[in-house]
Amino acid sequence: MRIGVDIDGVIADTFVLLVRELNNYFQADLALQDINDYNIFKVYGLSDADMFKFLREKEEALMEGPALKDGAAQCLSMLAQKHAIFLVSARNEKYRPQTEKWLRKHAIPYHGLILLGSHDKREACSRISVDLFIEDSLKNAHQISSCGVPVLLLDAPYNQGQLPPLVRRCSSWEEIFEVIERGDLGGIGNGCKK
Ligand SMILES: [Mg+2]
Repeated sequence: MRIGVDIDGVIADTFVLLVRELNNYFQADLALQDINDYNIFKVYGLSDADMFKFLREKEEALMEGPALKDGAAQCLSMLAQKHAIFLVSARNEKYRPQTEKWLRKHAIPYHGLILLGSHDKREACSRISVDLFIEDSLKNAHQISSCGVPVLLLDAPYNQGQLPPLVRRCSSWEEIFEVIERGDLGGIGNGCKK
């Protein structure tokens, strides 16, 4: 199979770092469990000006600093032996060096790295013909699955809600790996039988 994989919130534990940085920067005291919206800046009630100021100062650190999500490196290494892994991220192309450095540091295997600079992944998914996508944004999961591509959604406080038919919630990378290994994607449609 050709598997599309998001980076932030899926391989990189970006939200934990974001919460820490935002708490420090704006003297707030939120926890990851409080982040009930993918737009974390909305949860913090920031103005656009404050958000842009924060990102200008911190964006590079946020690309380089996240820890690995539990199980991500091990599961991707095993998956990459049988499948082609395409990392598809909303990160801007200008952050390719930092992103590649981070992926190397954490020994993440991949066959392609696509940095879109925007959140809509539909065109990229169809261009590289992915059979399955691993994502943490519920909105992205809606969009990607609307093109007939099954999505495994890594559970997070900010992606709760009703799932469309081709989307399955997984609580961990171990569960994602098992679902793919078992070929247990029948329950979320047949988009991976290409
Ligand atoms: Mg993400």
